[in-house]
Amino acid sequence: MKSMRNKIKSLFRKLNIVSLRLCAFALNFFSHNQNNTALSKLFIWIRKNSTQRRKDAKKRSSLFVYLPFSLCPLWLKLFIIILMSIGCSRMDQSENERVRKCNEKKETIYRLEHERIFSEVESREKKREKYPWEELYMGMHSKINKEYFRCKGSDINPPIRGEGGKEEIIDCGGLDKHGLPFQENQEFIYPILIDLVNYIQEKSEGTVVITTGHRCPVHNRYAEQAKIMQSSKHQLGAEVDFYVEGFEEKPLEVIKWIMDYYQAGQSAEYNRFIRCQKNPEGLKHPGWYNKEILLRIHEKTEGRDYDNRHPYPYITIEVRFDKQKNEAVNFDWDKAIKGYLRN
Ligand SMILES: [Zn+2]
Repeated sequence: MKSMRNKIKSLFRKLNIVSLRLCAFALNFFSHNQNNTALSKLFIWIRKNSTQRRKDAKKRSSLFVYLPFSLCPLWLKLFIIILMSIGCSRMDQSENERVRKCNEKKETIYRLEHERIFSEVESREKKREKYPWEELYMGMHSKINKEYFRCKGSDINPPIRGEGGKEEIIDCGGLDKHGLPFQENQEFIYPILIDLVNYIQEKSEGTVVITTGHRCPVHNRYAEQAKIMQSSKHQLGAEVDFYVEGFEEKPLEVIKWIMDYYQAGQSAEYNRFIRCQKNPEGLKHPGWYNKEILLRIHEKTEGRDYDNRHPYPYITIEVRFDKQKNEAVNFDWDKAIKGYLRN
């Protein structure tokens, strides 16, 4: 009997856990029904054996997983943990989505043609406001503003001798000593000059170099001693001298752009330029004028004052008529001498 039991035990040892459990269940059933103590003992032995085997298998599997993990470097451990967390969270999400779809109910909403829950709002396109730095640029170039027109005088310029060499002329203090012409409580340069130089810059894709914008009367005298120049409109902020980089030798082309500026939507007195009959400075090119401005070209040897000591021809634009105030712009000594702030 004992050898028989041993044989059965050795047979059970060869079975896997699931089969052992099934056998234990069957033995329990029979032993219970037939009141057989031998079978009951065998059942207890099998249950004990299968529990032990399960524990061993668990230990082996945990060793198989955790031993390699513990040998990994720290970064790899972290990587695995992160990977597993992401995987788990995604599984969670997809599970939530699946549950949501299962519980989803679709209902059709019926309403009459004229029924509206919300009143209709008329939509209008809103233009984006420019950022401050966008205001400073026009195409590839910095946008020219009145700052470019400040007096070029400086107290580091050496004193010069006037006509006859008797009088010593000293320059003004420049930006440190005075500002631009002052109108209606703010510094002022005639806007048409600013618009034109920016237009030229846009057309030429080159930089407009302003050699003279505003000149205070002191610097005006220092830069140019000729009597005729003492009434220059530079002193009112109504005149500008400049050349265009890349078009230094083509001032006539620049003059053409200025004339083109006046062709779009302007009346005849603005878009028609007339050639000057008088040429008091004896320039090679007599000037051109319309109602608003007067244009002059100074060739390489002409009009070389202190501010225009460069080797290029330059263009002068002089304002003749103020469109905003609808009045002629004439030189006024009182305005020139009193019309700007001093520090
Ligand atoms: Zn000055």
